[in-house]
Amino acid sequence: MKLIHWKDTMRVLVPGGAGFIGSHLCEALLGEGHHVVCVDNLITGSLRNIEHLRSESRFEFIQQDINEPYDPGKVDFIYNLASPASPVDYMEHGIETLKVGSLGSFHTLELARKYSAKYLLSSTSECYGDPLEHPQKETYWGHVNPIGPRSVYDESKRFAEAATMAYHRYHKVDTRILRIFNTYGPRLQLNDGRVISNFMKQALRGEPLTVYGDGSQTRSFCYVSDEVDGILRLGRSDIHEPVNIGNPGEFTIMECAKLVLKVTGSKSEITFQPLPQDDPKQRCPDISKARQMLGWEPKIDLQAGLKLSMEYFQQAIRMEDAEKSGKKVEQVAV
Ligand code: UDP
Repeated sequence: MKLIHWKDTMRVLVPGGAGFIGSHLCEALLGEGHHVVCVDNLITGSLRNIEHLRSESRFEFIQQDINEPYDPGKVDFIYNLASPASPVDYMEHGIETLKVGSLGSFHTLELARKYSAKYLLSSTSECYGDPLEHPQKETYWGHVNPIGPRSVYDESKRFAEAATMAYHRYHKVDTRILRIFNTYGPRLQLNDGRVISNFMKQALRGEPLTVYGDGSQTRSFCYVSDEVDGILRLGRSDIHEPVNIGNPGEFTIMECAKLVLKVTGSKSEITFQPLPQDDPKQRCPDISKARQMLGWEPKIDLQAGLKLSMEYFQQAIRMEDAEKSGKKVEQVAV
């Protein structure tokens, strides 16, 4: 494995570039000097996430659904981040989620083939389902319910991985597959229903934190700048098989709730609600492969990351309140 050092700037296509991780990736790619074509249908992405990039001459935004064939002209690299990704979002948009993993993957892989572009698929720890192996190594095939409520996302991403490997095997497309574990930070949608957005919003509003089940299920949370660093490193590599990029610090959801209360200084109480169907009991990445092959490991632990995210959540709440009361507010991108 060698890390490629880009000699020239590239024209990079980022489907899903107006999303949470996508917008941070666009920013990082612009920072590396590339020309970025951000394509998003804004189903869960937002123009607010890329507002601060739109005056940049090397940045193009096109509102487009990649489930329809679309040709942006010659591109050198495709970072495919397009998909609803929070359980609330992908369950609301189940068919679109299945389509973006299947049709959207085919359309973007075809572009990579046509232009001999390098390709990176952002996949997910959901490929492991409710894992029986712990922590999860890339070699684990997973324990996924193919027809449950989460299947629209899990099977979409598993299909996308299969399609990506097939384009690599049959058409020699230079592909990479990244498995993202729970990621958080500024620009996480306030109302996407994820645990960090819910807890931060509830704590800052002084409302009860809603722990689902008994809170003993675990997750491992990666701060967005660490995740983007991992994406860029994998992009520069020639590793075609999946690589986990996540923070191996594992927390029960109850520990997470208590940490959010500590960081925000909130006096909110903790309440309990039913555990959603097929909610994975544990999740923790084995990142030995990323450590060895990419020299990557996360730098920001959960407490530090929550502190770094607080200002954004406070601002997002102010904006939501102002919008509800009909006042106009200036968006300051964080
Ligand atoms: N969760 C919770 N309270 C909430 C939102 C989520 O206890 O208000 C739990 C959820 O049941 C799951 C974990 O937090 O066990 C992570 O949920 P999230 O929706 O963030 O993502 P997932 O990892 O399940 O895709």
